[in-house]
Amino acid sequence: MDKLAIFGGKPIRDTYLSYGKQTVDESDIQAVVDVLKGDYLTTGPFVKEFENKVASYVGAKYAVAVSNGTAALHMACFAAGIKDGDEVIVSPMTFAASSNAVLYCGGTPVFADIDPMTYNIDPDGIEAKITNKTKAIIPVDFSGQSVDMDRIKEIADKYNLIIIEDAAHALGSEYKGTKVGSKADMVEFSFHPVKLITTGEGGIVTTNSEKLYKKMMIFRSHGITREKEILNENHGPWYYEQQYLGYNYRLTDFQSALGTSQMNKIEDFISRRREIVKLYNDSFKDLKEIVTPFEAEYSNSGWHIYVIKIKPELLTVTRKEIFEALQAENIGVNVHYLPVYLHPYYRNLGYEKGLCPNAEELYKNMITLPLFPSMSDKDVNDVVTAVKKVIDYYRK
Ligand SMILES: *Cc1c(COP(=O)(O)O)cnc(C)c1O
Repeated sequence: MDKLAIFGGKPIRDTYLSYGKQTVDESDIQAVVDVLKGDYLTTGPFVKEFENKVASYVGAKYAVAVSNGTAALHMACFAAGIKDGDEVIVSPMTFAASSNAVLYCGGTPVFADIDPMTYNIDPDGIEAKITNKTKAIIPVDFSGQSVDMDRIKEIADKYNLIIIEDAAHALGSEYKGTKVGSKADMVEFSFHPVKLITTGEGGIVTTNSEKLYKKMMIFRSHGITREKEILNENHGPWYYEQQYLGYNYRLTDFQSALGTSQMNKIEDFISRRREIVKLYNDSFKDLKEIVTPFEAEYSNSGWHIYVIKIKPELLTVTRKEIFEALQAENIGVNVHYLPVYLHPYYRNLGYEKGLCPNAEELYKNMITLPLFPSMSDKDVNDVVTAVKKVIDYYRK
């Protein structure tokens, strides 16, 4: 057996393979350059064009593009009317932004545990967390797998709650044959470079509600409006009013042009991601020390990340040693995520270990493997070889 790189052996790769990466080609670059040479760098026509493109792709009536996905979640929480004293039910297996957005508005995140198969918030656990202060639910389509939205909607309808879907992982994913992005009251996507498409930094919220759309448009730009029908006063053509405490969360026109150009290729990106996932699944089929991702029958994921789970009972070491050994082989592994409430900031707010046992158990054993559209078959093969090499060594 080859010596592991962590013990001085030759690594599987000479160069480091990152876990995620954007795919930017000449047409993307040209699209950005064209805008830079034109009249509008911001608040021009390219933002609307991008918004329309994303809205029509996901099948929603409206979209509001903003400077990043976190701003998009903040905007959605604002539009939902989250304020001091309100509770919002959130998945713990997510990036901190999902629940930070609730805190920005003065609300209280209430974490409901995940389903141990899908890693998404378990609809069965949501109802037990509802109180008379609950205002909204933020389910997260973890790794790109859609949540069971029909079931979550049933609960939301019963208790009159707003659903803000954190679909940062799920642009292009499908739920029961329909693209994620039109079923929840508001759906947030992120365009960070590791996500499904990129604008550098960027985010968007899609909605079918004109009322929420208008509120978000105002929030994105300082809470200021010029719309005649809703002004309290009108001093003349120059007049605008600040009606809410908004922010400057605008996306630039050159970022929007990049986004529009990226949207032309999203189906290609996703089909390559699906191809790589199939290669991984097939290669790991007989490796009983790891669990490959489960996909529910209602979901058709676009695969933002590929997360495996190790079975510690079949290994001589823990996730930490497996992770370090893979890193030494030059494989860009990662962990998504520490359950949000275990971050020190949240612990200081009073959240305690043991709150969501399924999420904590998953965290102990999970490893994210590299996955991005421009990975070659050789890259994929390197990851597979490295995983097998490391597992072979640490097998009980
Ligand atoms: C990426 C991401 C966000 C938003 O992140 P930004 O970097 O602000 O665009 C929100 N939620 C989840 C689950 C994410 O992965």
